Amino acid sequence: MDNVQVCRGVGREVSQMSEVHNLIIIGSGPAGYTAGLYAARAMLDPLMFAGYMSGGQLMLTSDIENFPGYPEGIGGPEMMMQLREQAERFGLKVQDKNVGSVDLSSRPYKVTVEGEEFLTHSIIVSTGAESIWLDAPGEAEQKGRGISTCATCDGAFFRDEEVMVIGGGDSACEEATFLTRFASKVTLVHRRDVFRASTIMYERAANHPKIEIKTFRQVKEWLSDEKGLTGAVLEDPRDGSTEDIAVTGAFIAIGHTPITDFLGGQVTTDDEGYILHHEHTMTNVPGVFAAGDVVDTRYKQAITAAGMGCQAAMDAEKWLEENVH
Ligand code: NAP
Repeated sequence: MDNVQVCRGVGREVSQMSEVHNLIIIGSGPAGYTAGLYAARAMLDPLMFAGYMSGGQLMLTSDIENFPGYPEGIGGPEMMMQLREQAERFGLKVQDKNVGSVDLSSRPYKVTVEGEEFLTHSIIVSTGAESIWLDAPGEAEQKGRGISTCATCDGAFFRDEEVMVIGGGDSACEEATFLTRFASKVTLVHRRDVFRASTIMYERAANHPKIEIKTFRQVKEWLSDEKGLTGAVLEDPRDGSTEDIAVTGAFIAIGHTPITDFLGGQVTTDDEGYILHHEHTMTNVPGVFAAGDVVDTRYKQAITAAGMGCQAAMDAEKWLEENVH
């Protein structure tokens, strides 16, 4: 912790009141690192709390082939390391810690990290959204290998192979349809026979010759050997009967949860918890900005997150200029 003198209070550390950061960035995917790069180059001396598992969802992606500038593709973790290095070169300070809570009731704002309080004039929230996993037995070993939560990222690795998609919403139908570009067969597995997906998305999947839909099925257990995923045991929730399915790839599309709990409801969100922009990338709280998947209900791509991170840093810089400096 640079330039911060710490006095020990009862049960927690409090950063000296004289130390008020210009900008604290919370979260470290492409949105956060891009915000950090821009803010550091704008001489804002930003501080990032990257989280214990820094890098966000792309740390779970083996290869990124759709981020411009990498003609051969790049590994997700490698790209996150490079984004971090690039931002650090211009002075972004990064701590691999999770933010516990924030207090936005008065300025400067307080950010509490492992019991220690940091004061800041502005904040960029770029904590992303976590894909929801099934957490069925055998899943952990295959995460980011045979089992993925992103068909756009990983679909091309299953060319001419049989894959399955789990879920009954728009994401599942869209991913199943997308995967027909590569896979020889896609089985869409849903736990009941009513689909949340819009009619058009459902019908596009249901009418596709490469897609088979299996309703009243849920994954009881994943099957794999030393080469990777081999399939799953599917269970009928109505009577517990089971059948095996043979696939080498599986895509879980049962929804995302934006990571906003630490905000304690102080920033307005939609019904699903995604942060709402109030003015450009600023939230309803002046000086608090949000970028990337924690906002994005639609695109959820590394490149769109990076673009929004840039916007948030530029908005923060302008806001600081007009309101603080
Ligand atoms: P969603 O609409 O919430 O659907 C999630 C699906 O996963 C549901 O069918 C649900 O089953 C199933 N599910 C949840 N937990 C499960 C579990 N533990 N085991 C098995 N199945 C489980 O999520 P989404 O499809 O990601 O869509 C989210 C939002 O984004 C929606 O508003 C959607 O319209 C939008 N979206 C739009 C587009 C587009 O327009 N291009 C594309 C993707 C998403 P139940 O139905 O039984 O609960």
